[in-house]
Amino acid sequence: MPNPPATEVACSQEVSRHLAERLRQLRAERGWSLDRAAQQSGVSKAMLGQIERGESSPTVATLWKIATGFDCSLSSFLVAPPEAPEQTLLRRADALRNKPASDDMLVAPLFPHEARFGFELLELTLLPGYERLSEPHAAGVVEHIIVLRGQMDVLVDGAWQPLGPGEAVRFAADRPHGYRNHGAVPAVCHNLIHYPPGAPAAD
Ligand code: MN
Repeated sequence: MPNPPATEVACSQEVSRHLAERLRQLRAERGWSLDRAAQQSGVSKAMLGQIERGESSPTVATLWKIATGFDCSLSSFLVAPPEAPEQTLLRRADALRNKPASDDMLVAPLFPHEARFGFELLELTLLPGYERLSEPHAAGVVEHIIVLRGQMDVLVDGAWQPLGPGEAVRFAADRPHGYRNHGAVPAVCHNLIHYPPGAPAAD
């Protein structure tokens, strides 16, 4: 059986190292015990401990719970913010996608969250059959979903809204919402998540 390309493996390890460090750092900053972090995020203490030791590569759904529990952006768990923020950033979704890859949603953090801009731009790939109900994010968080390929539904205002390529929706994400792909091919969208000024969403 062929080995996966070396870069893929290296990137995954890099992601799980960054994730472990980020979670330990956030808990230390807040002075939260593992118990407290588990309560806030709805992710078990055992799982949080494994992540901090770099022993687990969690699903995107779990990452999202942790980010929401800490009022943080998702991308802050995936990549370090750019070191030279004035520099032009050239990004390739193909090089960023698929990490962490242990569930049916792939994420490419195209433009990670930076406090001064107040948004993150993710490329999301929903594999066929994927369905996720999202916990409400912090007050004032707004999501914009723009579909690039395939068909997907977004749960807004209590109803599943079908969207195809070129269609987009903006909604208040501080209430229950969801994403699903009932089609036979992957659905790819951009998700631009806006965090209100002063939100602790920070990097
Ligand atoms: Mn969401």
